[in-house]
Amino acid sequence: MTNYLYQEQNWQSQMSDLITDPKELLDILKLSSDQLLSGAILASQTFKLRVPRAFAEKIEVGNPLDPLLLQVLPHHLELEDFEGFVTDPLGEEDANQQPGVLHKYKSRFLLTLTGACAVHCRYCFRRHFPYQENLPKNDDWVNIKNYIESKPDINEVILSGGDPLTLSNRKLQLWIERLSSIEQLKYLRIHTRVPVVIPSRVDEEFISILKNSRLRVILVIHSNHASELDEFTCSKLSELVHNKVTVLNQAVLLKGVNDSAEILTHLSYKLFDTGVIPYYLHVLDKVKGAHHFDLDTNEINRIYTELLANLPGYLVPKLVREIAGEKNKTPLFGTETF
Ligand SMILES: *Cc1c(COP(=O)(O)O)cnc(C)c1O
Ligand code: SF4
Repeated sequence: MTNYLYQEQNWQSQMSDLITDPKELLDILKLSSDQLLSGAILASQTFKLRVPRAFAEKIEVGNPLDPLLLQVLPHHLELEDFEGFVTDPLGEEDANQQPGVLHKYKSRFLLTLTGACAVHCRYCFRRHFPYQENLPKNDDWVNIKNYIESKPDINEVILSGGDPLTLSNRKLQLWIERLSSIEQLKYLRIHTRVPVVIPSRVDEEFISILKNSRLRVILVIHSNHASELDEFTCSKLSELVHNKVTVLNQAVLLKGVNDSAEILTHLSYKLFDTGVIPYYLHVLDKVKGAHHFDLDTNEINRIYTELLANLPGYLVPKLVREIAGEKNKTPLFGTETF
């Protein structure tokens, strides 16, 4: 049993003490390769290294191929150009309706309150997104409210980002109260990776804000591998579930990280045993710098076919891709469209 030092530490202090120096991360993990280090230093100049200590301690010491490490360690291949891999694969820059609002699907839209994340995932399609220009200011609330009320089909707001759980409880509460005051809204969704990388963020105050909201709350975490889900993390997720929050997981299918049916099967069971339902399995967005995580269509189909055979239907995440201009995430299995 690993001896964890940081898992239960106060989340604010963890957030202000993130690992941002590639050398420090490699030292902690006892990895002394000069090649890894020089690649990490170079690649972190375009998208900074950012790893919470509570996440770093889930990484196996001495293993340069650890699936958690590969998600966060900058790699020299990020700097190479590959055909079809672009800075804005989803065309999101064009879809901004109001500061903070990204409305592409009928009944629900993304509301971005912060561009900050607790962790920087190297494959993230948001690595090039110009957040700071798009964040709502306090007095933009009136415009957002007017926007929602002008679209009667909207019944759900998705707090996204960045990562909304990097915000204080006070700020979250303010926005949740504002949203609750709009009658047509029924559901509040929160897309966040923080419970996986700094599980102590799920504190009493946060749980009570969700519990006391008029809105039905769906919290969608992002975990790609069962090794991310240690006992403390799972206890926090279960606590949410016990407080009537629906907790779902989205994963990204990543070469070297979780590109086998066995790993994904284990992840689904681990989630379910914690009370979390597997929701989406995203194929990689073709973002510049993420090519080394890409899998070809045949490989993806092979893995997913095996996953379907391994798991009961309710534990199979939907294999999807987001395609610019589509009205929903596009289901992929058995097609040649990806
Ligand atoms: C993914 C996404 C959503 C949520 O889609 P669901 O299929 O409901 O999970 C909403 N808006 C945008 C712009 C998205 O990218
Ligand atoms: S936490 Fe989510 S939004 Fe932030 S870098 Fe990772 S994948 Fe991207």
